[in-house]
Amino acid sequence: YFDGMTSMIRRDPVGVVAQIAPWNYPLMMSAWKIAPSLAAGNCVVFKPSENTPLTLLALAPLLNEIFPPGVINIVTGNGPDVGAQLAKHPRVRMISVTGSVNTGKDVLRLAAGNLKRTHFELGGKAPVIIFDDADIADAVETIRTYGYYNAGQDCVAACKVYCAEKIYEEFSEKLAEAVKTIKYGDINDPESEIPPLITAQHRERVDGFVRRAIDTEHIELLCGGKIVDGPGFFYEPTVLKGALQQDEIVQQEVFGPVVSITPFDGSIEQAIAFANDSEYGLASSIWTQDVGRAHALAATLQYGATWINTHFMLPNEMPHGGMKQTGYGKDISMYGLEDY
Ligand code: NAD
Repeated sequence: YFDGMTSMIRRDPVGVVAQIAPWNYPLMMSAWKIAPSLAAGNCVVFKPSENTPLTLLALAPLLNEIFPPGVINIVTGNGPDVGAQLAKHPRVRMISVTGSVNTGKDVLRLAAGNLKRTHFELGGKAPVIIFDDADIADAVETIRTYGYYNAGQDCVAACKVYCAEKIYEEFSEKLAEAVKTIKYGDINDPESEIPPLITAQHRERVDGFVRRAIDTEHIELLCGGKIVDGPGFFYEPTVLKGALQQDEIVQQEVFGPVVSITPFDGSIEQAIAFANDSEYGLASSIWTQDVGRAHALAATLQYGATWINTHFMLPNEMPHGGMKQTGYGKDISMYGLEDY
């Protein structure tokens, strides 16, 4: 406060913003990225994934009817060539990436040339912490849905369960029974619940994680675990029981229809120690009837979002983004707008 003076903040656009998207939700990712950057007054160069460019090519003529030439530019191509050019281009002032952690690191290095502002939404591996007073049926139903939604090709997928020892056997059995009922295989069948994996190569990668897990002596395959014959890169919805904290299947992002279950002693302390022992920090969920315990734990978990007795809910008014190597960009909500 200075006598006789006043101050104001005027928000200016950053300039040209480049945005690089993954393949798992091509149209939605473009909405999450393009809308706030335009609303903040920037011009956009948007690159969809090389695996899923068609939705954006269909959107482009519609955008052309609304915006002046040059305000929104859609460019297609792969990461190391086209994506990297955007990341290092001297006239791009900000770069936003949703993708894997390694891509984020590459882009951060390339962006250093003109000190671009960066915005990262990178990988995730969501812990699902189930205490012994949880509603088991509700947890099973939610994991059956959101552990396998989009065939698990989702950064917030409910893929890593920590279950209190007291209910571990009952929960594991019920989850496997539920997962066996997931319908898939024919993308034209309206009853079909999950799609195939994106490419043959990605399916091989997912299968590799599952094979190595099955070969680990203490891990038990409860269901799934195989490539599905026939058209489409389908993979059986899989449940792996008995995974331990340091196992690859617990630590690494699989991005497929695979859920691991790890027992814990039921204490808040062990739940925190296990869940926070991760380089990813996007989303998590807590299952308990004890609201005090849920809030105490949520305050200590190093994740951008923690759901209580649910999972996967992404309301528009809440920021979507992470901590640690998931990155620090925020999508949706006012926080997404402020980033631009
Ligand atoms: P990816 O990192 O392989 O590719 C993402 C995008 O980056 C693509 O458009 C690709 O062409 C581009 N790219 C790759 N290498 C590049 C480079 N060197 N320079 C510039 N651009 C490059 O990821 P993917 O396989 O398409 O998507 C899966 C990953 O995305 C998973 O790790 C998943 O967790 C993550 N993801 C995160 C969120 C989130 O909100 N945090 C949402 C969806 C997906």
